Amino acid sequence: MAPEGAGTPRSVCFTMHGIAVSGGIAIGHAHLFLGMSTEVDHYAIPPHDVGREQRRYDRAVKEVRDELKELAESVRHSTAAELAPFVNVHLMLLEDAAFAEAPREIIAEQRCNAEWALRTQLDELTAQFDDIEDEYLRERETDVRQVAERVLTALAGSKRRLAMKPTRQDTDMILVARDLSPADVILFREHPFAAFVTDMGGATSHTAIIARSLAIPAIVALHHSRTLIREDELVIVDGTQGVLIVNPDRAVLAEYRLRQNQARLEREKLKRLKTAPAATLDGTVVQLQANIELPSDLDAVRASGAAGIGLFRSEFLFMNRRDMPDEDEQYEAYREVVEGMKGKPVTIRTLDLGADKALDGQESMAENPALGLRAIRYCLSEPQLFNTQLRAILRASRHGKAMILIPMLSSYAELNQAVAAVERAKEELKTEGVKFDAFVPLGGMIEIPAAAIALPMFIRKLDFLSIGTNDLIQYTLAIDRADDAVAHLYDPLHPAVLSLISGVIRMAHQAEKPVAVCGEMAGDVRLTRLLLGMGLRHFSMHPASLLEVKQRVLSTSLPDVAPLVARIMKADDPEKMVSLVDKLNA
Ligand code: PEP
Ligand code: MG
Repeated sequence: MAPEGAGTPRSVCFTMHGIAVSGGIAIGHAHLFLGMSTEVDHYAIPPHDVGREQRRYDRAVKEVRDELKELAESVRHSTAAELAPFVNVHLMLLEDAAFAEAPREIIAEQRCNAEWALRTQLDELTAQFDDIEDEYLRERETDVRQVAERVLTALAGSKRRLAMKPTRQDTDMILVARDLSPADVILFREHPFAAFVTDMGGATSHTAIIARSLAIPAIVALHHSRTLIREDELVIVDGTQGVLIVNPDRAVLAEYRLRQNQARLEREKLKRLKTAPAATLDGTVVQLQANIELPSDLDAVRASGAAGIGLFRSEFLFMNRRDMPDEDEQYEAYREVVEGMKGKPVTIRTLDLGADKALDGQESMAENPALGLRAIRYCLSEPQLFNTQLRAILRASRHGKAMILIPMLSSYAELNQAVAAVERAKEELKTEGVKFDAFVPLGGMIEIPAAAIALPMFIRKLDFLSIGTNDLIQYTLAIDRADDAVAHLYDPLHPAVLSLISGVIRMAHQAEKPVAVCGEMAGDVRLTRLLLGMGLRHFSMHPASLLEVKQRVLSTSLPDVAPLVARIMKADDPEKMVSLVDKLNA
């Protein structure tokens, strides 16, 4: 057998470059992730269970039919009316015997599970497409695949999961995918891969953010990795530089193993800072808090020594399932986090669904989802859903120190409605005799330029502010944060962005309201001194980068930093700006 990395006849060594989104080095074997429709379980059904398996299939088809009918109805009355015919094509396909009957027959003939029967039928159908000359008809293959995908998702039910090949230890596996949704990546908690790389995606997409929070190296926007890399090939992922090396030779492999060990040692050293108070050399105290997606992140938060949770992205409780968590289920999740933090603050952001974070089976039909019914806009359009969440948060508030954070504020009316909704939920609980913290602070995320510019309008009604730089950059620069085609233009150091951030910090100080940054800038150690120099004293980031940021805070002298930061704020030449930032970090 050829030695690892020595090169078999087809093992040509090559390098690919993408966007580095989650640092560190991983070395492992590639697993090509093809998506749910192509990797399904296969198991035998005893003869007496064939009827039951067929009914399970029928139920999934019915569920998809209902879903599509609802979708057809909603798009008909929306700005996306032109999508209705496409939804109708899917409905027609679903009614066809190819979907409604054939998989049932395969279940009976092959005595196999419904997923496998559908997969077999899908292979059969797509093979027929290969012979079709007519371009229009050939394009229908995508529709057939999408319908099959929906049925498979329905079959998976709330147990939706990535079907992985169990041939290797997951920890030795590098996932290579065309694209991954945030919901897919959150499932990685159950499958601890060594790293992942994708052909699409941007640096601050939620997919990238979760990779960072899991502390696994990741590269996005590689463009052709799915076509160039083969299953099981040895790859090195350098998530810091955004470099992927396929079939490395011995020398390269040895070099990266060395770097991997050095990084491990650095991480070990950083652990010593866990209990050190975060303060600058001149004695200014800085709050370093953590961002989480699920209660299961608490272990990582504790290991980081965070002073609290500055952002709990509650929408992740709603993903990878077909139903919504009810009030009690949400209460238990919030309570677990609030209690688990033992009196330290826990900032629970109300649902920020929409854009790249969709509920299962509810992909947005809007033309511009990032500008559409997202976050607080969505919650205000679904008052019952919002009320359920607010009640659950308020109920959890009596178990520690909870704070409510409203995402995506852009208008005064929205803020008023959100405040009224919180008051209503409090009144209800009071009437029912349910205990809660009557003084639970209410904060707003400043992530739309309109809110940053017209801050006085919002600040009066809020107890605290949190700057969501990921969206603030996206909306200020008109750059879709998840689109790799414009990723090179996504620039946290753009003067317009820096001016908005420093303006918000200044106005918050004047109004004596606490202000944090909870976007990815807070966890970027290159920017720590710049933010400190702007007056920021409260950072919230994924736990994996907290100790590194703390180390930078501990080695910073604010009086030394001030003149350089002032020059950066005045700089209008991007190159000069970058060199000043480098100097700041020297
Ligand atoms: C942000 O926009 O900076 C933020 C923290 O929220 P999210 O990344 O979840 O949109
Ligand atoms: Mg945001």
